[in-house]
This record gives sequence, C-alpha cells and structure tokens, in this order.
Amino acid sequence: MAAKTYKMFIDGKWVDSSSEETFDVINPATEEVIAKVAKGGREDVAAAIDAARTAFDNGSWSEKTPAERAAILWRMSDAFEKEMLRFAKLESMNVGKTIKYSRDSDMPFIADNLRFFAGAARNLDGKATANYSGLGLNIIKREPLGVVAAVVPWNYPLYIAIWKLAPALAAGNTVVIKPASYTPITLLEFAKLIQKMLPDGVLNVVTGPGDTVGTEMATSHKVDMVALTGDVSTGKKIMQMASSNIKRVHLELGGKAPLVVMPDASIDAATEGAVVSAFWNTAQDCTATTRVYVQEQMYNKFVDMLVKKVAKIRIGDPMLERTDMGPLVSARQRDRTEEYVKAGIDDGAKLVFGGKRPAKMKKGFYFEPTIFKDVTQKMRICQEEIFGPLLSVLSYKTVDEAVEKANDVVYGLAASVWGSDITKTMNVASRLKFGTVWINEHGALASEMPHGGYKQSGFGKDLSMYAFEEFTNVKHIYVDQTGLVRKPWYYVVYGDKE
Ligand code: NAD
Repeated sequence: MAAKTYKMFIDGKWVDSSSEETFDVINPATEEVIAKVAKGGREDVAAAIDAARTAFDNGSWSEKTPAERAAILWRMSDAFEKEMLRFAKLESMNVGKTIKYSRDSDMPFIADNLRFFAGAARNLDGKATANYSGLGLNIIKREPLGVVAAVVPWNYPLYIAIWKLAPALAAGNTVVIKPASYTPITLLEFAKLIQKMLPDGVLNVVTGPGDTVGTEMATSHKVDMVALTGDVSTGKKIMQMASSNIKRVHLELGGKAPLVVMPDASIDAATEGAVVSAFWNTAQDCTATTRVYVQEQMYNKFVDMLVKKVAKIRIGDPMLERTDMGPLVSARQRDRTEEYVKAGIDDGAKLVFGGKRPAKMKKGFYFEPTIFKDVTQKMRICQEEIFGPLLSVLSYKTVDEAVEKANDVVYGLAASVWGSDITKTMNVASRLKFGTVWINEHGALASEMPHGGYKQSGFGKDLSMYAFEEFTNVKHIYVDQTGLVRKPWYYVVYGDKE
C-alpha cells in the first residue's frame, strides 16, 4: 500500500511544514511506512497559535450560544458515527490495537464523548447565586479560557484527543492540538471530516516532534492552557515551561494500577478481570493492571489459574477478528518491555509465562503476555511504569499490608479491589489513593464520570463535568443592589461610620 501524505491543519487550511520536511508513520504489525506527515517546527506551531488566538479573540466561536456550539459538536458526532468503521481500521493499522477493540470500544466512546460534551456546553452553571453581603448580588459565570494547547499520546490517539477537544470546544475555547508522532493519522482524518463545521482557526492540528512542537505550545504567551496526556517526565517539563506565563496546566500522566484480591474474592472472577485489564491494548493503557496483590494462602492457586487464562490470548494481526493482542506501538516499546523482563529476572522474580517475542510473528513489534510471580515491592517491575505486557503478582498476609503496598508507588491513577463483602471492599476502595477505584471490575469508563490521577499521575480531570470545568474560568460578578452613592462600608477608607 502506498504511503499517504498528510499536511497540518492550520487556520482552516492544509499546509506543509515551513521546512517542507516530513516524517514516516509506521504500521507496527508490518513495520511498513503507511504515511508521510508534515514535520512541523516552532514557526508552524506559532502560526497555529496565532490562528487560534485570532479565532478566539474575534468571537467566531466563543460568542456562539451554547446551543449553537452544542449543535455543532452533535453534528461532528453524527458525521463521525457514519465513518466509525473506517476510523477503527485506521487506528488499528496505526497503533496495532485489535480491530475488535478499536471498533467496539474506542470509536463508540468517541461518538458518545462528543455528544456528552455537546450537552455539557449547555450546562454552564455556577455554584451559587446569592446576596452574600446583603448589599449586592453575587453571580458565578463560567467563561472559556482562550487558546487551549493539547498534547496527546499514542496509545489511544483519537480517543484521548477527543477527551481534550470536546470539552475545550464545548466551553468556547479555540484549540491547537498535537498528536503523538507514532500515531497522527486518525486525528488528521478527524480534522478533515469536520473541517467545514468550525470557523477558521478554531481547531488547528500540528504534527512534529514533542520537544519542538510541544515546547512551543507550552511556552507561548498566547496560549492560556496546556493539556497533556503523556509520561510523567513530559508532564514535569510542560509544567516548567507553562510557568512562563502562568498558563493553566492539565496533566493526565502515567499509572501503575494495582488489583487487590481480597481473601473472600472469587479467584475465577478476579483472574478474568486481571487478564483483560492487564493485556488490553497490548497493555499500553495508563489504567492497565500491572500489579496484582493476592493473599498468600490463595497465591499459588491464583497464579495457576491466571497463567491458564493468559495462555489463551491469541497474538496476531490486529486486523483479524480473532486476534486478542496485537503488537506494541513501536520497536522502542517492545525493547523497553524486554529490558524490564530482564530486570525482573535479575531482581529475583520468577517468570511464569511469556517473556519473549512470539516466534510465529516474523515482522512487527510483538511481545508475549508476560507474568512474573514472587515479585517484591521494591523491584523495578513493581515500581516503574512499563507500558508493555508485563504483569507482576505479589503476595500479602493481611489486607492492611495489601493496601499499604498498593499505595506504595509514585502513581495514583487507577486501582481495583475484588471481593464478595461489599463493606470490606468499599473500605479498601476508600483507602486506595487513586483517582478511580473499581470494585469487582477494572477499566470501565463513562463519559459522565471523571478520569484523572492522584500523586504523580497528574491533576485535572478528563471526562465528565469536572473536565468541562477545567476548560473554563470561573468569574465572580458582583452587582450592587443598593443604588447608593456612599455605601455603608465606605467609612473604613474615609470618613466616619453613619
Ligand atoms: P510522551 O510523554 O512521550 O508523549 C506524549 C505527548 O507529548 C506526545 O504527543 C509527545 O510528542 C509529546 N511530547 C514529548 N515530549 C515533549 C516535550 N518535551 N514537550 C512537549 N510535548 C512533548 O508519552 P507517550 O509515550 O506518547 O504516552 C505514554 C504515556 O502516556 C504513559 O506514561 C501513559 O501512562 C500516559 N498516559 C496517561 C493517560 C492518562 O489518562 N493519565 C492516558 C494515556 C497515556
């Protein structure tokens, strides 16, 4: 298949980068080049930011009524829904995620998310309207921030792009967005699909390396907010760069999710949940289960059942319906997983399944689902985010110890607890320091519910009305209701109390 070329979308036009350079995009299952994409530099990003600034300041989007913006977002969702299968195939081809996952999970959620934020646009509520001082009316008004710069990762390219775009646009902001260089295709195709629906400059898509394109976005004084989903190290850099003009920062960073199996849990249900949540999206998911905590009496039985289930995962071509696990997104991610397998063995953990490239796959960045037992808390495979198919199983004596160990990482994005006593599982859920805790499930998201981290997993929420609020400024307006020239309190500055 001939590689397709893609330009950047700036100020309503498709443009080459000013250097006219491009970069290659690879299909991780075949290692073939599938696209050549404009390699934007700082001046291209500056042009996109200028376009977004002008579009914000001229009110072409921010001054539309919420109903008008909602109607446009709804129209985007309708147009997208008609093309979901095409988008699912593109996403699978570019990321290596299985077609059943792209088609039946990512794409419908994108359509739903656009519709949720269409509704949110019409719910610009303030918390309180009252006469707090007795002399005037206090009003809370929510306003758009201005220009939002969004930087998105490669594991859910369009899905996470929409998590930023939809609330930002719904609130009346204009946007400059950058996909990850491994996976720019679906966001560029989405911009093509909806380009006529928005005034020029409201949505701009820039492509190119994070350290130049992303740097310009994070440092520009014309940008009001930078929203990143990415690695903790990138988040730290962005926070520093954003300080140049005190722009708002919204960070969805890494994770190292624990799955806590209570002593009364169904081993069958918990192993089922562990297999699915550890290896979906080839484990390239910030909420993926990476550490399982099992009480020592049931430990061996649990590991045996887990291994039997993982052995059934069918690795292969992500475009085939029967494939359960595709390749990793890049040779870099595969090599990184391999390095962690070595670290696990060197640190004394016991490899009980996988641990290598599957012999049957001659091309592509494939890696077997991998399980380590006898993992201890301070091992690197237990502490560091791998973002590859490597699951650690640890044992505990008491539930208190399990909770302490589950919390003992720098991350705090998501966790789950499995058990049959709702009081006990609920108590553990309350003690887990993570932004999302599932009980007897791991991974279910809803557009209505927030997604975001504690600790170094970041701050600011995606999804839900909480995300919508992140993309707005809260303004307090005070309306005097006395009509007096000299208000009763003015004596504190000059004159006497009357
Ligand atoms: P990454 O941080 O390397 O890249 C994310 C984006 O930031 C990319 O578009 C990249 O080009 C850009 N970037 C890189 N360096 C930059 C810089 N110096 N300045 C500005 N932008 C820069 O992350 P990744 O490898 O693409 O994605 C994987 C990471 O994302 C993992 O850590 C994962 O946990 C995290 N993630 C988090 C969530 C969440 O919701 N919390 C969701 C998905 C992924």
